[in-house]
Amino acid sequence: MSFPDIVPDLKARMPQLRGRLLANQPLGEFTWFRVGGPAQVLFMPDDENDLAYFLRNLPAAIPVTTIGAGSNLIVRDGGVAGVVVRLGRGFNEVSIEADHRVVAGSAMLDVMVARAAQNAGIAGLAFLSGIPGTIGGALRMNGGAYGGETKDILIEARGVDRQGNIRSFSNSQMGFSYRHCGIADDVIFTTALLQGRPGEPEAIAAEMAAIKDKRAASQPRNRTGGSTFKNPPGHSAWKLVDEAGCRGLKVGQAQVSELHSNFLISLDGASAADIERLGETVRARVQAHCGIELEWEIKRIGVSA
Ligand SMILES: Cc1cc2nc3c(=O)[nH]c(=O)nc-3n(C[C@H](O)[C@H](O)[C@H](O)COP(=O)(O)OP(=O)(O)OC[C@H]3O[C@@H](n4cnc5c(N)ncnc54)[C@H](O)[C@@H]3O)c2cc1C
Repeated sequence: MSFPDIVPDLKARMPQLRGRLLANQPLGEFTWFRVGGPAQVLFMPDDENDLAYFLRNLPAAIPVTTIGAGSNLIVRDGGVAGVVVRLGRGFNEVSIEADHRVVAGSAMLDVMVARAAQNAGIAGLAFLSGIPGTIGGALRMNGGAYGGETKDILIEARGVDRQGNIRSFSNSQMGFSYRHCGIADDVIFTTALLQGRPGEPEAIAAEMAAIKDKRAASQPRNRTGGSTFKNPPGHSAWKLVDEAGCRGLKVGQAQVSELHSNFLISLDGASAADIERLGETVRARVQAHCGIELEWEIKRIGVSA
């Protein structure tokens, strides 16, 4: 399936645009599941000003969706109408500031930020090393692991809103809760100012190595989207999935991981529809088994084929 090509029209409206605009660009390769349809337009801005210029001049009726490393994402097989923004060069700087603070561009991988902090003797950010997304995704999802969450280390985030205004959001304005951020979905985060504390590089490195070992033993690291469902209050999603008999369950070419029952896997030839149908089957079985309705943690974007 392909969408009408609106790239020539957008280029004509935005003569000063520096970033790349591509029509009907497949998105599967940008996601961990490696499935899904194209973006009507994929936009890779050069820097924050370029992104702001683009959004200011983009007709209001055209929807905008942001993707990071695609580690928490199902792109449906019919693709995503409108513009998909993917940040890259120009958004992947990390710098160490006074008072154990770190400024990170939102395209930067969490693990790279954790490593920069570790090298600088800044503790408190090691948990990021276990999350395979970008800083933008960590802000949007309030990513967390092993007792740390993005909300615990964020001082301030910067972003661009749909009207093209560059804005700052303090920690309290972010409206963080479990795997959720309260800022409007169409705000694209560009940088984060993070607060760490003094630490010993060797001790932080040991903490990161322990996280890596635990992950390797307990989670699949290939063609998955991480935790599929949020933990309902007082419960572990993986236990509920297990108790409903869904570990290893297959729908089409998608399977509940044998290693971690809250992880779904896309096998060779899987479609996004297979993965989503599997997730819905699990939700229905858990609901029937214990009456609890699981909520998707994985974000699903686009339309069915
Ligand atoms: C093996 C594995 C293990 C995982 N373990 C964990 C874990 O321990 N803890 C945890 O919290 N998560 C975990 N995840 C899930 C995932 O890594 C996190 O949710 C991560 O923060 C998503 O970042 P991303 O860049 O991949 O975002 P994407 O998956 O690309 O997008 C996720 C959401 O963030 C939004 N987004 C991305 N970038 C921006 C931006 N710049 N501005 C605004 N919105 C943006 C997207 O629109 C989307 O709504 C795991 C995933 C995998 C595959």
